[in-house]
Amino acid sequence: MSSRGIQFLDLEAQRKRLGGSVESAISEVLLHDRYVMGPEVGELEARIAELCGVKHCVSCGNGTDALQISLMALGIGRGDAIFVPSFTFTATAEAVVLVGATPVFVDIQEDTFNIDPSSLEEAIVSTTGLRRSAIIAVDLFGQAADYPELSQIAAHYNLELVVDAAQSLGGRNESANVGNLGDVTTTSFFPSKPLGCYGDGGALLTQRDDIAEASRSIRVHGSGSAKYDNSRFGLNSRLDSLQAAILLAKLPVFQEEIDARGEIADRYTTALSGLLEIPVVKPGVRSVWANYTIKVAGRELLRAGLQSANIPTAVYYPKPIHQRGPYKDFPTAPNGLINSENVSKCVLSLPIHPYLDSSSQNQIIAALLDLVPN
Ligand SMILES: *Cc1c(COP(=O)(O)O)cnc(C)c1O
Repeated sequence: MSSRGIQFLDLEAQRKRLGGSVESAISEVLLHDRYVMGPEVGELEARIAELCGVKHCVSCGNGTDALQISLMALGIGRGDAIFVPSFTFTATAEAVVLVGATPVFVDIQEDTFNIDPSSLEEAIVSTTGLRRSAIIAVDLFGQAADYPELSQIAAHYNLELVVDAAQSLGGRNESANVGNLGDVTTTSFFPSKPLGCYGDGGALLTQRDDIAEASRSIRVHGSGSAKYDNSRFGLNSRLDSLQAAILLAKLPVFQEEIDARGEIADRYTTALSGLLEIPVVKPGVRSVWANYTIKVAGRELLRAGLQSANIPTAVYYPKPIHQRGPYKDFPTAPNGLINSENVSKCVLSLPIHPYLDSSSQNQIIAALLDLVPN
């Protein structure tokens, strides 16, 4: 165990593992001093496109902007209904509101935490007075949503399928890599995500030339072909060269880190099944295990017990979005959002970073066995 005790996320251990490559990547940028959209940015985009097997990768300022840029590139705005799960990080719905469209909240499946295709279809059919335009599916905690079903629904109702892969970059399902599961896929390089930089960063991935071209313009104020000309409205959402350089330095260990989290997940699952409600991954899907999230009644008591044993945990998320502040007024699926409401009360995420050694894993498992009545 590290001398600092069990960490929920251990970026210091990762930096030591990388053995100075991050520091030298940063020094390289200081030498050429092209800090915004420098050479590392194009190189990173090419590497990530290759890694995911997708034609285009367009980087930007963060994962929230990646969602907003995607919606803008798809021409989504006022009068459009966008179907989003309610149990996710705020940004998924926020991006919809920022482009002037209306989020329609859909329930999740209680076992995978991902959007429920039947709740989705009910929400689509019952939506009137708005153009039904797109679905944003979220691959929560690292597991791809049910794309075989979602693609059929999207095709049937003529909707764009946007994938929020902030937590699932590097994963896949039975037929394709994350990046190839919808019309456009967005991701985040926030430090705690599976591939994280040392600040904010994000990207979108797509096979479609029209989306890629529009996105490249939107991220730089809607720039046209000539400097200080504009072909559309846009944002200021470029990736820094320093962040791209840091991500390039981390790419060589990205797959090993995914594998390491997978092994920890397997250990937890073996030790805890039958004792606690453990996360379910659907057959054929390869999760990147951004989080290992159990469900437990009496969560706060267990959480406090783990805290006294110096084991940090997190609650993603304590409230579904349709119950948060200004999001309360948007439409919801007609049969309610029962699963989203129920899981919010009992989810608890355990430490699962790739540098969590086996004695720390043992300590976490032992504390759970001790605290949970069996
Ligand atoms: C982190 C996250 C985002 C937003 O990414 P930022 O880079 O923080 O803007 C969007 N959706 C989900 C599911 C996320 O986890």
